[in-house]
Parts: sequence; structure tokens; C-alpha cells
Amino acid sequence: MTEFDFIRQYLKTRQGAEVVLGIGDDAAVIRPRCGFDLCFSSDMLVGGRHFFIDESPEDLAWKVLAVNVSDMAAMGAEPKWVLLSVALPYLDKHWLERFCCRFFELSEKFGVVLIGGDTTKGEWVFNITIAGELPEGKALKRSAAMVGDDIWVSGQLGSAAAGLRVKQNLCVLPENLSAVCIDKLLRPEPRVALGRLILPFANAAQDVSDGLAQDLGHILTASGVGAEIFVEALPSVSGLREELGYENWLSCVLSGGDDYELVFTAPHTCRRRVEEAAEHSGVAVTRIGTINDTGRLNIKEKDGSELKLTSLGFDHFG
Ligand code: ADP
Ligand code: MG
Repeated sequence: MTEFDFIRQYLKTRQGAEVVLGIGDDAAVIRPRCGFDLCFSSDMLVGGRHFFIDESPEDLAWKVLAVNVSDMAAMGAEPKWVLLSVALPYLDKHWLERFCCRFFELSEKFGVVLIGGDTTKGEWVFNITIAGELPEGKALKRSAAMVGDDIWVSGQLGSAAAGLRVKQNLCVLPENLSAVCIDKLLRPEPRVALGRLILPFANAAQDVSDGLAQDLGHILTASGVGAEIFVEALPSVSGLREELGYENWLSCVLSGGDDYELVFTAPHTCRRRVEEAAEHSGVAVTRIGTINDTGRLNIKEKDGSELKLTSLGFDHFG
């Protein structure tokens, strides 16, 4: 199979009102709606670094699309168009069929249309560029947290990191818990509905891809503020803390990557609205602390003492 067979046989732009020209020309053309800003992001997954190359094509399709859609969620944007660039060592018909089948199934689920990309020979790289729409002048920026804001996280933290430990044979969890954690690692759920619902009143947001401590740290730095968060408030799946032990659990919930939950800040007068947004989107939210003017992140343990982190999440060049 050649690159061109692949494009012709498997890739097709699904119809979408704003797509003027999809796959097949030198570039795609879209016509954005009046009153909206366009929002762009790109995320790359590299074999052996971000995923195991023997992962199923279905799971790879899920992950590469979900992590990109999650960036739109973190901006409060509606994801709409994607470009998919792949480097593959060979074109295996069966593998590509499975990948594309899941990819198109999910693009429908997440409401995005594939409008182009690139295909080249190389060692397992998947890159998606995604574009979405935001009401004009609105975006959940990292730099907009205000002193006094509540800090919230969606869903549960640490499951993906625990799933990775299981896959790497670094720990053993009971079967059902292990399944939940591996599911979260391979098939994260981007929190698009929640992001769009909190857009009118939340101040700052970002998705948790590199660990809560590091990702919340980005908000603090960008906003020029500090924060106090409480270990006892950090949400994780039932049984995880007991099974991992306190130290390993802490490392998963604070520094573990790949959860793709949202961490966001909102004025304390908006608590009811945050809870309503959570109800409407079907995603739990938990208040984990407060933004302050100290310029640093203070993580408080149960006895009131401050937790010192040696490593704040994951740094690719660290
Ligand atoms: P060019 O030579 O301009 O790069 P290509 O022959 O690579 O064009 O691609 C032809 C068409 O197929 C383009 O519209 C491109 O966007 C699309 N395309 C190529 N690879 C992919 C891919 N992996 N996913 C989606 N569209 C693709
Ligand atoms: Mg090309």
C-alpha cells in the first residue's frame, strides 16, 4: 500500500457546514462563523515515549485525538477541525483500517472533522493540529487566576499514573482497580462540556497532562499568584490510596501525568455555578484550595504541615 492509496482509501473529510475544502487539495479551507475566535493547538505522541508501540491501533487513535481535544476543553473552546500527521515505519492495511475506523468513530463523538494532514515513513509519530471556536474575546487563559479564587479539579487524579505503573510492572492493583486505571491511561475523556460551561465565569484553566503540581504551577506563574491546596481534598478513585500506600499515591495524584482532567480557578461567589456546570456535564468537580498572593504553591497535609515535592510532575528534558 502506498501513501496515496492510504489517503484515497481511508481518509475522507466528513461533511461539515464550515468546511469549504477538505482532504485532497494542497490545503484545507474553512469558513469561521461570525462572532467567534479560532483557537489552535497541536500535540504530538511519540512511540516509546508517550505510548507503547504495541498498543492497539484503536487505543492509539483514541489517545492522540483525546489529548488534542483536551487542549480545546482547557480553553473552554468547542473543538471543530483536526489535521493528522503520522510517521509510520510501514503501511499495514489491517492496522490502518482499525486505526481509521476508531479515529472516525471518535471524531464524531468529539464533534471534530478531519480536514487534512500528512503521511510519511518514519518511526511511530502521531501529531494532531486541532482548531476550535470560542465566543469572541473569551478564552480560559492560564494567566487569569485571581487572588481569592477557588481552585477546582474535574474527575479524579492519579489513575493514569497508577495505570502506567501497572503496565510497567512497577505495582500490582486489584483487577477492577487496575482496569479503571489502565482505561484512564489509554482512553482519557476530554472535558469539553465542562470547559464550555465554566467559560462564562471561570478565570483560569488548564488540562492536567503533566501532573497537578506542575500544571497548576503553570497557572500560578502565568498569573503571578500563589496557592494553597489540601492533600486531603485531592480526588482519586476509591481504593487507590489504600492500595498504593500514601507516598506512592501522593506521587500519582500530584505528579502523575496523563489524567487530562481540568484544573481551573473561579471566584468563590461562583461555587453554585461550578456545581451546576459539573451536574450538566456529568463530571464531578472538587474544590482543592485557594489562590493567594504568596507567589508559590503550598501543599498542606492533614496535620497542617507543608508537603515538599522533589519533582513537580514530568519534564521531558529533565
Ligand atoms: P502535499 O503533497 O501537499 O503534502 P499530500 O499528498 O501529502 O499533499 O496529501 C494529499 C491530501 O491528503 C492533502 O489534502 C492532505 O491534507 C491529505 N492527507 C495526507 N495525509 C493525511 C493524514 N494522515 N490525515 C489526513 N489527511 C491527510
Ligand atoms: Mg504531504
